[in-house]
Amino acid sequence: MSLAQLNVDQIKPLLAPLAEQARKLIGQGKVADYIPALKQVASNQFGVAVCDINGNVISFGDATTPFSIQSISKLFTLVQAIKIYDETLWEKIGKEPSGQRFNSLVQLETDHGIPRNPFINAGALAVCDRLESRLSAPNYQLIELLQKLAKNPFIKTNLKVARSELEHGSRNAAMAYLMKAFDNFANPVEKVLESYCHHCAIEMSCVDLAKATLFLANSGVDLNGDKILDRSQTVRINALMATCGLYDASGEFAFQVGLPGKSGVGGGIVAIHPKHFSICVWSPELDEFGNSKAATEFLKILTDELKISIY
Ligand code: GLN
Repeated sequence: MSLAQLNVDQIKPLLAPLAEQARKLIGQGKVADYIPALKQVASNQFGVAVCDINGNVISFGDATTPFSIQSISKLFTLVQAIKIYDETLWEKIGKEPSGQRFNSLVQLETDHGIPRNPFINAGALAVCDRLESRLSAPNYQLIELLQKLAKNPFIKTNLKVARSELEHGSRNAAMAYLMKAFDNFANPVEKVLESYCHHCAIEMSCVDLAKATLFLANSGVDLNGDKILDRSQTVRINALMATCGLYDASGEFAFQVGLPGKSGVGGGIVAIHPKHFSICVWSPELDEFGNSKAATEFLKILTDELKISIY
């Protein structure tokens, strides 16, 4: 199929049959339970939404149900930090895949407190630390950005989830303190952990997230026609998503799906087809890497069917 023709009309007839196929994996994964408030989510949900670069949106299933965006928030805090720091952000945050679990501490010690990339927990905590130094109200400002990108004034944080994560956040605290010990963390750890947990506990639907990530498919320009990032900053975020967005399953995702993506333990995955569309797929049950099983499967069969791996 010619990529010049790709729009939501061609994808629409595939959503229901491919969703039915992907849903067969429900029952084989496990809802995240290390954040107690997350395990109350009904595991048989499945939703998908696609937004093409003309701003047309199509969706199927539980696509308007808000869910915990978790690590998908790391994408948006990175955008905020790049807008403020540009190249200097990378002085003590890496750009390499980690090949380790998203909340591993091992590498951080051997790498002298420099996180491998901004999409693992340590890297996102470092990004939140940089934001804490420059933003007056990090939580509010992230919500404000997401409401604008998704054109939805009702996006908010689930405070119960944020509290639950803060109460069970010893590993994240350990990473932040370790970075502080290596002089790579400027602000009080407790303060940064609080914003990080609030960011992860934001709830958005597949439709919200497909719309909110459209600028990554559209050279940095959002649904409102506003420039969020310049072209070169945008392609670099996509490159990081392609290499690091699914943690230690990023290689497998590139192999099977072939689109830059970012996952979260709430079961959401966003993916970008530069110049064509943004997509969000959600189903809460996760595989052993912390990525949604059914959402990954859906993206794999969609890109197979349409032959649209970017590689
Ligand atoms: N809030 C989660 C954590 O800090 C985010 C992890 C994820 O979505 N992979 O562990």
